[in-house]
Amino acid sequence: MTPEEFRAAAHQLVDWIADFRARAAAGELPARSTVAPGEVAAQLPDHLPDELAAVAELLAELEQVVVPGISHVQHPGNFAWFPANASLSSVLGDLASSGLGAIGLSWQSAPALTEVEEVVLDWLRQEAGLSPEWRGTIHDTASTSCLVALLVARERASGFSKDAGGLQSAMAPLVVYTSAEAHSSVGKAALLAGFGRDNLRLVGVDPVTYAMDSSALEAAVAGDRAAGRVPAAVVATIGTTASTAIDPVQEIADIARREDMYLHVDAAMAGSALFLPECAWLFEGVEQADSLTWNPHKWMGTVLDTSAFYVRDPALLQRVMSASPSYLASKADGSVTQFRDWGIPLGRRFRALKLLFQLRLDGLDSVRRRLRRDLANAAWLAEAAAATPRWRVVAPVVLQTVCLRHEPAGLGWAAGGAAGGAGLGVTAGGEAPDGEALDRHMAALTERVNSSGRAHLTTALLGGRLVTRVSIGAEPTERRHVEEVWRLLQEAADAEVSGTRS
Ligand code: PLP
Repeated sequence: MTPEEFRAAAHQLVDWIADFRARAAAGELPARSTVAPGEVAAQLPDHLPDELAAVAELLAELEQVVVPGISHVQHPGNFAWFPANASLSSVLGDLASSGLGAIGLSWQSAPALTEVEEVVLDWLRQEAGLSPEWRGTIHDTASTSCLVALLVARERASGFSKDAGGLQSAMAPLVVYTSAEAHSSVGKAALLAGFGRDNLRLVGVDPVTYAMDSSALEAAVAGDRAAGRVPAAVVATIGTTASTAIDPVQEIADIARREDMYLHVDAAMAGSALFLPECAWLFEGVEQADSLTWNPHKWMGTVLDTSAFYVRDPALLQRVMSASPSYLASKADGSVTQFRDWGIPLGRRFRALKLLFQLRLDGLDSVRRRLRRDLANAAWLAEAAAATPRWRVVAPVVLQTVCLRHEPAGLGWAAGGAAGGAGLGVTAGGEAPDGEALDRHMAALTERVNSSGRAHLTTALLGGRLVTRVSIGAEPTERRHVEEVWRLLQEAADAEVSGTRS
């Protein structure tokens, strides 16, 4: 494709994207994809066609094959998972990045790629109110950031075993701690980093807040020390995935310091709230951590894949991550940042342009306004649900996610109150709930809302029982959309109850 051909094609594509996003934001597409497994693949040729396609033909395929095969998270009825906003300003930065076709192998391969990344992450640091001790880089995801953190922790705790016999030569097992409510990526990173499942402790949580119980952490560390194991790292979460619980980072940091453990803070979702002074309390103690990650590609709205990873000791990170093949040597070495030594990939994308475009074209004040709108909408929903008979808000609403249960009378109640289960109390009616029946009820009513196409919700286990999560924060979601999902939930609950009874 020549630059002139690109110009013509790109204009068509950009027009298509603008129209698509307008339709998504207006809620004109089903919030959850309706395709069956294999349906998308079946519409594509088995083999690469010999004939070349015209751009118009590909755009028609995008429309007819791809769009139905997407759960539209840029839809005002998207309350699933966590927000995955993709501000159009950052999409422009992504296009610029691809168009430049730069490769970040070393500072020399694209000095701007390194230096724009350093500068925009420092802008974010300042706006987030983090101290100048932090230095940041961009990884693809929080999962990668956590893996990198745990690799560093492993090396620090093993006296840099990688430089000799590796973990296989370690004298004592190294242990990682996180809470039972931590994201699955933490456990995955611990396993990939070689700690082994036997050395991964899922520390208990407070039954009301779902935050890590720091005294349980202390006890687990003491038990491991007594057994001759080496506590190596703790991963605290600010904003857990099920309910946005806030681990007591300051208390955890005190234990980590005393026990010489590496502390990584996973604020993948909640980190965007760093821009709101009124949310500063959520991050108390974060300055004591060794590393911190949060995803601008969630609530803040920088298109995937943009995970900010900050460390306080870049030299430690580089000692673990650096690789300097001779073909990358340049005379700038030693005086510049080499981001290949801050993570796993060698060839890096110019991801910082996504942030640069969003920050310069939209600015952070528009992000702050949106986050405050979402916090207010979540508070509204929590209040409405708490005031409605048979509905329960089952976890504190500290951010924009509301975890709900509907506990109907006469449906699945165990005679004599058997099988209540963690997280369920005796209801206002004095009945003891049958946890499994209520789980099925929650799954069914959530599915009923999702199949309407008007909204998309996900369920999660909280305290061992199923809840419906209403995770507010898609860019186009206004109060009326939250009111609508609340109405849909209540209608679905009523329909399930009458269906069950009939
Ligand atoms: N940590 C938390 C608390 C999350 O909620 C998530 C995803 O939602 C992740 C980590 C993983 O994020 P990523 O998809 O960037 O790997």
